[in-house]
Amino acid sequence: MAAYQIVVLPGDGVGPEIIAEGLKVIRAALKAVSLEVQFTELEIGAARYRRTGTAFGQEDIEKVRKADAVYFGAVGLPDVRLPDGREVQSGYIYRQDLDLYANIRPVKLYKGVESPLKNAQEKGIDYVIFRENTEGLYTFGKGGFRIGNEAAVNPLIISRKGTERIVRAAFQMARRRKGAPEDGIKRVTCVDKSNVVEAYAFFEEVFHEVAKEFPDIQSEHYYTDAMTVMMVQRPWHFDVVVTENMFGDILSDLGAGTIGSLGLAPSAEVGDKHGLFQSIHGSAPDIAGKGIANPIAAILSGAMMFDWLGTKHNDPQAAEVGRRIEKAVETALAKGRVRTPDLGGKNPTGQMTEAIIREMES
Ligand code: ATP
Repeated sequence: MAAYQIVVLPGDGVGPEIIAEGLKVIRAALKAVSLEVQFTELEIGAARYRRTGTAFGQEDIEKVRKADAVYFGAVGLPDVRLPDGREVQSGYIYRQDLDLYANIRPVKLYKGVESPLKNAQEKGIDYVIFRENTEGLYTFGKGGFRIGNEAAVNPLIISRKGTERIVRAAFQMARRRKGAPEDGIKRVTCVDKSNVVEAYAFFEEVFHEVAKEFPDIQSEHYYTDAMTVMMVQRPWHFDVVVTENMFGDILSDLGAGTIGSLGLAPSAEVGDKHGLFQSIHGSAPDIAGKGIANPIAAILSGAMMFDWLGTKHNDPQAAEVGRRIEKAVETALAKGRVRTPDLGGKNPTGQMTEAIIREMES
């Protein structure tokens, strides 16, 4: 019987609301398998910063480092600012520290959910964005500087090591998937602005080098501007997409817009050792405390956590937990009887969770 230690960081805003729902679903899924999982909850984030002056304690980092996985809500409140004026954000806390270099963001349109794109249900949207998470234009902690009052500069760092490992992870994922909805071809698409920026030209160069290690997977390249058009007009062409940090941030929000709601978009941030799982949306302070947040992004992030544990530890029981959760979400959405307001329904957060658990137990 495996035993996993999971650190739970609910954070701010809707974070605690959706993480509580995610944990209910995980516990329900665990009933059917023999897997021992221990959850340890820690307080981090902007509310803690306001109260104590630190967003995340050194002792917490130690606990996170020792954990098998981290289940994360959201961090940040608009009225709580660091001395330099920025919001308290989770990326500053853990991405570099845990070396979570791959930010994996599935863009999947579930049956029963309306996409703003024409013909999307018939043609299918099902691809995964691999966003490089430790360098690029958002190189946390090695940030920008001002030149007096006249200019500001941010470095854009693309390293060989950083690019090779994210591109390799993208190709490995393509091997595990069933190909693009359009033609069933397993394909990795590199996205950057190599026609304008030297650092991106290097990213593309390294991409083509790594692609040679995967002759069984098709590889192609798009400029970011052309990619935004493709993601709206022909998203069924994509299978796995790999891109730099900031582009991945922007493109994955666009992707979430095509699948019905930000509240449906999960993510995994993983490195060779550590993994952290969270919705791609933020703390959504505008709806926090109202009980209307869609819990599905957090629930699917929980599914990704167990899928990752299953692959990493070669543990079919853990993988089964992930599969059961995703299947239950899929069925509950397809039936469409319960919907939170972001999906055009009237049901509160808790009823969405109950509908998912019902599917799992039926
Ligand atoms: P960040 O910059 O931290 O990513 P943000 O402030 O840009 O966050 P979000 O917190 O992601 O934005 O919220 C963007 C919009 O999406 C808000 O209107 C919010 O209410 C909505 N939203 C986000 N998450 C959910 C959810 N789970 N259910 C319903 N609506 C959501």
